[in-house]
Amino acid sequence: QFERPPHVFNRGSSPPFTLVTTLFRDLSRANSKPPKRREALAKWFHKWRTDVGNDLYPAMRLMVPQCDKDRAVYGLKEQALARIYVTVLELDPGSNTAKRLKNWKKPLKTNELGPENTGSNSGTGDFPTVLYECIKTRVTAETTLTIDEVNTLLDSLSTNTRFQAQAAVMTQIAERCSPEDQIWIVKIILKDLKISVKENTVFSVFHPSAFEIYNSTSDLKQVCWKLYDLHCTANNEDTEIQLFQPFQPMLCKRPRRELQDVVKLMERKEFIIEEKLDGERIQLHKRGKEYYYCSRKGKDYTYLYGQHVGTGSLTPFIDGAFAAGVDNVILDGEMLVWDPFTEHYLPFGWLKPAALDKSNDPTKMHPCFKVFDILMLNDRRIYRWPLHKRKDALKKVFSPVTNILEYAYETRGRTAKEVKAELERIMDDRGEGLVVKNPDKPYVLAGREDAWLKVKPEYVDEMSETVDVLVIGADYGTGKRGGGVSTLICGVRDDTMSGDDPHFLSFVRIGSGLNMSEFEEIRRKDWREYTPGEELDFVKLSERGTEDKPDVYIRPEENFIITVKAAEIVTSEKYAMDWTMRFPRCRAIRRDLTWQDVMTAKDIHEMRTGGRKR
Ligand code: ATP
Repeated sequence: QFERPPHVFNRGSSPPFTLVTTLFRDLSRANSKPPKRREALAKWFHKWRTDVGNDLYPAMRLMVPQCDKDRAVYGLKEQALARIYVTVLELDPGSNTAKRLKNWKKPLKTNELGPENTGSNSGTGDFPTVLYECIKTRVTAETTLTIDEVNTLLDSLSTNTRFQAQAAVMTQIAERCSPEDQIWIVKIILKDLKISVKENTVFSVFHPSAFEIYNSTSDLKQVCWKLYDLHCTANNEDTEIQLFQPFQPMLCKRPRRELQDVVKLMERKEFIIEEKLDGERIQLHKRGKEYYYCSRKGKDYTYLYGQHVGTGSLTPFIDGAFAAGVDNVILDGEMLVWDPFTEHYLPFGWLKPAALDKSNDPTKMHPCFKVFDILMLNDRRIYRWPLHKRKDALKKVFSPVTNILEYAYETRGRTAKEVKAELERIMDDRGEGLVVKNPDKPYVLAGREDAWLKVKPEYVDEMSETVDVLVIGADYGTGKRGGGVSTLICGVRDDTMSGDDPHFLSFVRIGSGLNMSEFEEIRRKDWREYTPGEELDFVKLSERGTEDKPDVYIRPEENFIITVKAAEIVTSEKYAMDWTMRFPRCRAIRRDLTWQDVMTAKDIHEMRTGGRKR
């Protein structure tokens, strides 16, 4: 834990919370241009430093809440906040306001629009806006909370995860905060202020070295307390990665659609091709016999995987694998779950249950750490070395322990043809895609550079399946997609059923590929409310899972058909078809087709047995 130095402090009592919310309001003004926003931020920091003191940590926690790892997760998303507000406002759960809060994604019919939603559906799908509409006439409080008080309340919200305790905290907030300022608190809890200012802008205005310190420590306190004044200079140690401190890992860039683009970005030289592993990004720090594990966001997972050889679900099995002489090391890789029973890696959701299993039974599923990079070796920071040199160093660090500690698969290539062949191989193995890396480039903290490119089959036009499916239902969208239906649930025709009435099997859910005007067209269609559990006479939904259960449905006579492109067709229990598509994208609304033209279950089986179309 980094302690606050004595020369960093604020004078007098904490400033009012309105000091930050006034800034948020200024920054979020639609016509405010980026240079103006930077200027407003700079003035604000200057004023704090002059009037309040040099400890900006209390304010920065509220300004970049997504970077504040000191406040554990709240476990509160929109739906939970809606339930809490029903309690806070003492609403009858059957009242229109309670329903509006809980159904914040659902657009209202014209006759339901009232003063509570300013007579329009514009806020639907954006929880803070819907909440504001519901509280603006109910809450009459003025904001009397200070910044410190808000931080204390948020601390207790994150440490008390019980509903009643969280509702009690939110009640205190509601009693001492204006409706507008409560909405800012809700946005802080949701870690998305929507003020059109990215965290790197806030950091760069705060201090030129702030982002560097944040990237190497993931610690907002250190940023604020080491750079308490604009005249402070960060020394090399401050901006360097350190053992047992989470750094911001390097990420992958998405190339343009053609594989030739990958070759070009790799400077037409030999490149490294790795599998894009589908688990959780984990960094492992080891000092002698002590281990530390954390996620991409800096969440400490040592309690799961083990601080020492005697604890956790991984450390006991890997401690002996490190080469003699490897004392201190920082490794970067992906944590997966290996299931010895099926001899497959399990989906992401199994990570925690596997890591929490204390039985240490080798026949049960367990974590497997696949390492692809090294940043520090025996106190030497080597992350600026070119990747090929880092790989050489990495290969001497440990002897692999099958399905427990492994080197991520890698090969070399030079051409688009080789990337495609590798992608096909990985897809046949149910992989997600590839990461193509430039062997001459350094590791860039928080970088998303040309040096690491993610390549997925859906980026490659000739590597996908195309099907025409019937839209049978949809879910309401949120955020930018709020205000109406967004995700489409589609089916294929069940050709085993005879008779004149069409019958379909749920098959795939599609969230991307449509533009705004297509959404507008879709939203005008004749959607009907779907009641959970309801049986629809024209479609069979799966008996397991909720993936294919819509908020609203649409009848086949509406002839709403779309062409979908996806990486491949795979088995799935979540759809009545027992198959679904991976990484689907809508390519077109087919106004020229009727429900008789959509693909049948037999067509899908044939596509599967005939092999993937390429
Ligand atoms: P996506 O949604 O496509 O997975 P993302 O936004 O989560 O992308 P990206 O920057 O696009 O993140 O991809 C980086 C992520 O890919 C990493 O966080 C890591 O978990 C994962 N990954 C899997 N395999 C590799 C690999 N071999 N090298 C680097 N990153 C990898």
